[in-house]
Amino acid sequence: MTEISFDLVLSGGTVFDPVAGTHAVTDVAVTDGRVARIAPSLAAQAREVVDCAGKWVMPGLVEGHTHVFENVSKVGAPPDEAHLRRGVVAAADAGTVGASTFAAFREFVVRPAEMRLVNFLNVSVLGLIDFRFGELLNPDTLVAEDALAVARDNPDVVRGFKIRLSEDVVGSAWRSLLKSSLALATDAGLPLMVHIGETEEPLPEVLGMLRPGDIVAHCYTGKPHGILDDDKVIPAVLDARARGVLFDSAHGKSNLSFEVARKAIAEGFLPDLLTSDTSARNWRGPVFDLVTSAAKLRALGMTMDEIVPRMTIAPARRLGLDTEGYGTLVEGGPAHVTVLEDTEETTLPDAAGNSIVAPRLEPALVLHGGQRVETSPWRGLDTAR
Ligand SMILES: [Zn+2]
Repeated sequence: MTEISFDLVLSGGTVFDPVAGTHAVTDVAVTDGRVARIAPSLAAQAREVVDCAGKWVMPGLVEGHTHVFENVSKVGAPPDEAHLRRGVVAAADAGTVGASTFAAFREFVVRPAEMRLVNFLNVSVLGLIDFRFGELLNPDTLVAEDALAVARDNPDVVRGFKIRLSEDVVGSAWRSLLKSSLALATDAGLPLMVHIGETEEPLPEVLGMLRPGDIVAHCYTGKPHGILDDDKVIPAVLDARARGVLFDSAHGKSNLSFEVARKAIAEGFLPDLLTSDTSARNWRGPVFDLVTSAAKLRALGMTMDEIVPRMTIAPARRLGLDTEGYGTLVEGGPAHVTVLEDTEETTLPDAAGNSIVAPRLEPALVLHGGQRVETSPWRGLDTAR
């Protein structure tokens, strides 16, 4: 009789190594919360075997842009329900929280969550409590000392800063507010995430001010001042990327246009970070979750080999979560694993009133630190959720 060596073996799936950018059909063995072996034919040594044939096996997903300040902000979705139960084991809140509300975020959201949460702290002390009232319309709410103090005292959570540069948020003071935000991010040694779309000024002017490592949110927005001109990615966007400025795909309620994404992807302009911008405003549609955002971009031309690193290792590195074993699937590392499977063809909406018909990606099995996570069904199937 073969000796039992592993608690669990995920057998025969297509297993991704997002660091190497490769995949192979093989087995993944888990013991005591860690990845014990990645090799073919391990099933005979397992206490439990899950057949993953025909499924995609990857590191637990990392969401680089979401809004999870539940019960305080009107845009806050419940983190575990919106993310963990849909295959995402770690996520970054993108500016829902400002310095004045950070203590509540830490106590009531980060601490009780079953998943790992970090954030981009809003440069306004108010944060994004209620999107009807721009948090920087009073520019005095940008208090650099407060933001810096919160970042300094909470390095386990604060991994960057966020400014929303829409006209209804910053008014006409966008340039001085962006400068102050960049200065404080430089002081803290952290990146700045900048929300584009609906900006007063054309995008090149904004991009010219950003530093390597800063993140432009919503690269496939269909709103004015986006990345395309005459159906081509504008040179300033390519220049910014060449300098190390990053672009996230943050779908959001109103910032993914299939038309823009299809053209940009055809040109080879892929997001550095594949993110969903899930919030209480969109988690029942049109965004739903990160895996549905990924399925949409796959339908528009991205391959799984291009998709997987952008929702695992790339955000994990940017958020400093790779050092905790997020974003990778390696022998000896923590068993954060997401297994996805293709579904039937489904009509999927963008944020601009268009739709495509494509298979969705659904979490078939999720492990966080080796613990099996109970998954939730796709919320498009049950609008009452
Ligand atoms: Zn957002």
